[in-house]
Amino acid sequence: MTDNDFDAASNFVQEKPWRLVNIVQSLRPYLAGGGIAVGSGCLWGYWVGYEWFYRPISPGPATHPLTALCLLLLGTSALLINRSTIFRGLSTGLIFVVLAFCLVWFVDLTFPVHISPFITPFQGSVTLDIQHGKSNSLGLNSLVLLVGTAASLIFYNARYLAAAQAFSFLAAFIPAVSLVGYLYGVENLYGAMSLWTALAGVCVGLSALCMTAEGGLLRYVLSPYSWGWVFRTQSVLGLIFPLALGFLILEVMRLNDHRVFGVYVVGNIWFILLMVGVSSFFLEKVDQQRRRSELKLLEAATQDQLTGLANRRKFFEFGRYEIQRIDRSNNNGLWLLMMDLDHFKNINDAAGHDMGDKVLVMVSRAMQKSVRSVDLVSRLGGEEFAVLLPDSTPDGAEHVANRILASVNSLCILGWTDIHGPVTLSIGCSRITPGSTLEDGMKSADSALYEAKRNGRNQLLMADSAGQSQYQ
Ligand code: GH3
Ligand code: MG
Ligand code: MG
Repeated sequence: MTDNDFDAASNFVQEKPWRLVNIVQSLRPYLAGGGIAVGSGCLWGYWVGYEWFYRPISPGPATHPLTALCLLLLGTSALLINRSTIFRGLSTGLIFVVLAFCLVWFVDLTFPVHISPFITPFQGSVTLDIQHGKSNSLGLNSLVLLVGTAASLIFYNARYLAAAQAFSFLAAFIPAVSLVGYLYGVENLYGAMSLWTALAGVCVGLSALCMTAEGGLLRYVLSPYSWGWVFRTQSVLGLIFPLALGFLILEVMRLNDHRVFGVYVVGNIWFILLMVGVSSFFLEKVDQQRRRSELKLLEAATQDQLTGLANRRKFFEFGRYEIQRIDRSNNNGLWLLMMDLDHFKNINDAAGHDMGDKVLVMVSRAMQKSVRSVDLVSRLGGEEFAVLLPDSTPDGAEHVANRILASVNSLCILGWTDIHGPVTLSIGCSRITPGSTLEDGMKSADSALYEAKRNGRNQLLMADSAGQSQYQ
């Protein structure tokens, strides 16, 4: 692997941010707002007697006041759900109010009782509509839409994101069929569901779906990796293609039951979206594995096996990157410490290679603990180490070097320091000035290190800016 390949690989394996997940989640309040606007608009229409607000196409289906109220409550609940504890409690309360309304509604649809008029606001307008032969009723499809959305919000609150997503997906299916009916101009497709209910239903259903974007299948469709684009394109095509095909079929065929046809079209779309979601889920799992393996490979290529410090390759990569930065910015400068353990050979000779290895590991840990998180400690080879200190002052670099000296000196390594005394090292320090190379800096720090060795070891020596070492 060349250095360029290596740079490309290190960029590639970094986990990308899943921005689309956040974007989709941020749509929640707007979609919930759509549900609130339509729900409250309908109720306001009943209140002031302005029919268009609850029956957009006349004569045609109207949004029943109880449906409008439930849509308003669900929209508000979806809006408040991620707020503070009080609002979350309020949000849950609203969901249960909707479920109570839906229960009454269900009893009315199933048994020959009429309890819903007692809980319906503007019941007078509904009665008047029916007397005039206009449609204004509680439909089973609206009931399923509302219960589905309520269930989704409850599961979301309980953090069962996959279940919440499944319910919101199913809930949005119903108004989507009606919307397709309005789009095709086929009355049988929307039946008794008004355009407002269909729009608001899709809004609150999708708002519930959006809030689950960090989990379930939706997360994988929103993946930042290249196949995420494939799935999103498939989703859009999976939406457009059946719609267009359905329109063509309607134009050329005479169908007796349009309702079945609507379910067929939207069923196709939903099935495609589901397939896309399932595929994206499995692909993400496989890709996650691949990314982990790549990260391991990268670690293996940049880490020293014995000590876990950065290796020589990483040292040069980091150093060159930091040199580019000092060339561009006007910060304090890049400082380099070249370090070599004193008489290390003695350790191997007296206590064996294993003890030598143990000392190298302990010294590495002590060095790593003595630097800032932005600094890079690396093992260049054998018992030679280097530290790069970006954006540091002369005092800062000297302080870090002295800290390393002190912490290595104070190491307790059973079997060595207790018998032979402390481990020591010598350090040469240089500043890498703008326009100079990493090699220049290494040469100057190395000569300071050499001087430190000649001067008796166990000490730090600063090189001056001209590359000459000077005693401290
Ligand atoms: P000086 O103070 O002049 O630096 O003396 P020194 O003994 O530290 O230097 P020298 O270069 O003579 O010896 C370095 C030794 O480090 C020689 C080599 O066997 C040993 N060494 C290199 N890599 C490893 C390693 O990974 N493990 C162990 N245990 N020893 C190593
Ligand atoms: Mg040495
Ligand atoms: Mg050496």
